[in-house]
Amino acid sequence: MATLFISDLHLCGERPAITTLFLDFLASRARRADALYILGDLFEYWIGDEALRQPEFQAITIGLKTLTAAGVPVYVMHGNRDFLIGDVFARETGCRLLPDPTRIDLYGVPTLVSHGDAMCTDDVEYMAFRRMVRAPAWQQAFLAKSPAERDTIVRHYREHSRESTASKRPEIMDVTPDAVAELMRAHGVTHLIHGHTHRPGEHHFTLGDAPARRIVLGDWYEQGSVLRCDARSWALEQLPLPARARERRPRQRRRSS
Ligand code: MN
Repeated sequence: MATLFISDLHLCGERPAITTLFLDFLASRARRADALYILGDLFEYWIGDEALRQPEFQAITIGLKTLTAAGVPVYVMHGNRDFLIGDVFARETGCRLLPDPTRIDLYGVPTLVSHGDAMCTDDVEYMAFRRMVRAPAWQQAFLAKSPAERDTIVRHYREHSRESTASKRPEIMDVTPDAVAELMRAHGVTHLIHGHTHRPGEHHFTLGDAPARRIVLGDWYEQGSVLRCDARSWALEQLPLPARARERRPRQRRRSS
């Protein structure tokens, strides 16, 4: 048995092959897991839980509900794109919402899990935007608007984000080592799992005098990406898209996390 971690699926109606891959994953590997952690950006964007009514999300709701009803705990953390996932989503899917960051016990190893965007402290413009949209007053005002108005506002922000991302140096959009160390120290861990940067990999470093480890989850664009952890080992694995879906896939735009 193992615990699985995924993030940055960016599910949306425009990329049905990835939704299919995710639904297959929920019905197969995830079904045999001790638990599934979704560490942010499950959705490309989320205007509020009214989005559950959209036809393209109904199969996802059912897939998650089927998994949690089968007894597999599913934990969902907010990402920078779907931070308005709320209690209605949790109730309808059986998923539990996790604060960012959260310290978990992973087969005896205290481990911090996070989406990761809060550690990109060199991106001053993004950090200011994050403070604005994570403020309860902003969220209340936003959720009070009609779904159509919210959709328009989100499209505007996404367009702006694509433009500004294209002009930023790549290292600006990665996590800042000092922010990583500070967060890990504050939570008393030497192990950290996060997503967001779309730079899957494993980083070894020292924290004080202790060996420390940071695992970065991959995005779900060209394939799926999953971190599998059991009591003996941790492994980052890829889930291939079915060949037919790859052939039909339109060329990717430059991605932004
Ligand atoms: Mn993200």
